[in-house]
Formats: sequence, C-alpha cells, structure tokens
Amino acid sequence: MREERSPQYLRARTIETDADLSAPTEGLWRIHDYFATGEQKETAVTTASLLDLKIEIAQRMCGYCHFCERRCYTNRAERPGFCGVLRSKYSSEFLHYGEERELVSSHTIFFTGCTFKCAFCQNWDIARHAEAGAVADADALARRIYARSIAGARNVTWVGGDPTPHIGTILKTMRALADLKQETEVDARFLNVPMVFNSNTYYSAEAAKLLDGVIDVYLSDFKYGNDRCAKRY
Ligand code: SF4
Repeated sequence: MREERSPQYLRARTIETDADLSAPTEGLWRIHDYFATGEQKETAVTTASLLDLKIEIAQRMCGYCHFCERRCYTNRAERPGFCGVLRSKYSSEFLHYGEERELVSSHTIFFTGCTFKCAFCQNWDIARHAEAGAVADADALARRIYARSIAGARNVTWVGGDPTPHIGTILKTMRALADLKQETEVDARFLNVPMVFNSNTYYSAEAAKLLDGVIDVYLSDFKYGNDRCAKRY
C-alpha cells in the first residue's frame, strides 16, 4: 500500500512454470509447491504461469470440493455443498471505509455463501443465500477493481459470507487483472493493489497453498474460543 513492492498476484503471473496443465493433479501440485516456495526468477511468461497453475488446480478442486475443512467432496458444477455455493456470486462491491483502519479505503467484495452457519452472523442474508446476487465474472470484476483503484482503493478485500468457496473465481479475477497490463490505455500503477483475504480461516491446507503467493494480507476473524461454543453457535 506504500508502493514499495509489487503485490504477490502480479509476481505469480510472471513466474514461468513450464507445467503441462493437462497433467494429473498430483503432478501439478508438485510443480506448484516447487515454484511457490522457491526464489524463481520473474520472466515474460510464454507457458503456464504460477497463477495459471493455481487456477487449474482450483478448477479441479471444485469437482470434488475441499476448499474448506467441511470437505464435502461434491462436484460443484452439479450441486452445492454445505456452503450453498454453485457459481460464484457476490452481493455487493464498494469502497469500504469501515474496515480495519490500516486498510481503509478498501475495495471490498462481498461474496455470497459461507462455510459456517453462525447463530450471530451479521451478514446472514448473504451468507445463507448463496444463490442471490450477481454472477462474479472474472473479467468484469477485474475491470471493476481497476476502476476502484483509480477511485482511491488501497487494496482489494475478498470477504463474504466467506470467500473460501470462491477461491477459483478470485484467482481467475487476479489473472484478468494482471493481464490488463497488456492494454495500452491501462495505467499499470493502478494494478498495484494488495490482496486481502478476509475469512473465517476454516479453509483446507490445499486452499491455503493456493492462497500462498497471491494474498498479501490475511485478515482472520476468530469467532470462537473453544469447540463447545463453536459447535453450539
Ligand atoms: S467450500 Fe467447503 S462447504 Fe463449500 S462445497 Fe467446498 S468443502 Fe463444502
């Protein structure tokens, strides 16, 4: 946010992996983990970038969904799991002045659906109605983010409901945003937006690996002090 370094999603778009995206998932994870943890050079990408690889793995994960620790293993193209999410939808997106002070003003994107069903939810209307809202189209959202950045957004906050079921859409939006750089009328300075993942942190280890290397700030909502309360509420 101080413009001292690039956001991670832009870096992930420029790391060339040479991965064959039609390879078995296990092989893709091996390549992913190698490139996600190393000090690979950023290049002009001609093959699959690290971000492409993350998107491919996320798409496959949707077919037996285990983005969160519910691990429904449903095929989300056919039916939703516990979170209720089929296609990614969002209820609103705007410049938010009520986020944590360090993040204001934040371009906040509220996805529908959630991996929890808390009795005290303040966003119950969107958390429990995953089918409501606008379809989250990656290209359109990327252009929205660019416009909000020009309007003064210092970062993008992915929230909900919970953003976890939407990780595939979030990654695709990041790629569309990074690729705006190629358009001559786009001012690349406004693509320099850090990514904030604002969630209940109930995501799986696999989802965490996909987020690692594209998320700049984790904003975790700790809701429960013990399992007894968590189960009850
Ligand atoms: S995100 Fe979680 S709750 Fe939703 S379908 Fe996937 S595993 Fe189930």
